[in-house]
Amino acid sequence: MTTPAVNGKQVPAAQKLASEVLSGEAMVVCPKCKAIQSVFINDGMLMPTRKFQQRGNAIYHDCGSKLPCRIYRDW
Ligand SMILES: [Zn+2]
Repeated sequence: MTTPAVNGKQVPAAQKLASEVLSGEAMVVCPKCKAIQSVFINDGMLMPTRKFQQRGNAIYHDCGSKLPCRIYRDW
C-alpha cells in the first residue's frame, strides 16, 4: 500500500488538501460535527465563508474541531 506524497509530505489517501483541489467548487465535511458545505477554492485558497477557514493547506470548521475538514470534489 502506498500513500501519495504531496510536496514531499505524506498525506492520508482520503485527505485532499485545499491546494490539491486548486480551483473550483468543492464540498467540505467536518469530521467532528459532520457539517457539510459547498465552498469555492481559488488557486488553492479557500474563499472565506462564515463557518470554514483555511489554515495552511487544510480547512477547519468553526465548531472547534482540531481535525481538518475533508474535501471532496468528485461527484
Ligand atoms: Zn464542525
